[in-house]
Amino acid sequence: MSEILSRVGHNGIAVELPLDSQGGADHTVKAYLVEDAEAFAKVSDVRDALGHLQAFGLGPIGELAVRQIEDGDWLEAWKASFTPIRIGAFLVRPTWSDPRDDGAIALVLDPGMAFGTGLHPTTQQCLEALSQLRLDGTRVLDVGTGSGILAIAAAKRGAREVVAVDTDPLAVRAAAENASLNSARIDVRAGSAADIEGTFDVVLANLVGPVLVQIAPHLRARLRTSGSLVAAGVTAQAEPEVLAAFSARGLGVVDREERADWVRLILTA
Ligand code: SAH
Repeated sequence: MSEILSRVGHNGIAVELPLDSQGGADHTVKAYLVEDAEAFAKVSDVRDALGHLQAFGLGPIGELAVRQIEDGDWLEAWKASFTPIRIGAFLVRPTWSDPRDDGAIALVLDPGMAFGTGLHPTTQQCLEALSQLRLDGTRVLDVGTGSGILAIAAAKRGAREVVAVDTDPLAVRAAAENASLNSARIDVRAGSAADIEGTFDVVLANLVGPVLVQIAPHLRARLRTSGSLVAAGVTAQAEPEVLAAFSARGLGVVDREERADWVRLILTA
């Protein structure tokens, strides 16, 4: 749905999901369109595409709702859709929200192009893992850093050294900007696990199943003995293949969490 709506949305889309979301059935995906000559056709294309998507027998997709909002209000409305969200030890908040002191570790993000506003279930699962893992004085590698959210979270929880990589140059730029916004010292580089040398106490990889399988040897090579690999973005369906790829490299599961069909694993060598 995000993909379909992002084809027409101005400045991307917003995914809203209540904190007590159950089974993922209550997500709202919003797109803001400029009301021009094509707007009507765009809405109609979206409605068609959602209809086709429904035909894949996925979970139920609600009715497409369309409403008109006043010019000038839409940016505020878009901004309002990024409310601060508490996840584990962290409070993820957009740049424009007021700081608040509730004991949480603030992660300030400009929800730009890069995925990782803290709202996606897989990002949440990783932030929860980062709330619990012992990170003081560790070396952490974040593979597929996106907005840099996980790398920043690791730095703020006491990691001594954080290296973040992404194959997408836009993500590299966004992660570097977000790191400085948070005064977090992160070494952001273009590339992937194969381009990095040395070993790390914690390796983070919120990717997708097939990519995890593909780069499993490199992820393993970057992990020190008895270090923790946090692997997320795995659908329950892709899980056996991912597990096979990791166990072939001598990695075993020490923790597993599943939410809205997304599996997050913590593995160790
Ligand atoms: N870590 C962030 C973003 C996850 S999205 C979070 O948890 O929210 C996945 C990111 O991985 C994207 O930015 C994508 O560009 C990047 N990516 C995809 N394949 C990759 C690969 N093989 N190596 C490194 N990064 C990759």
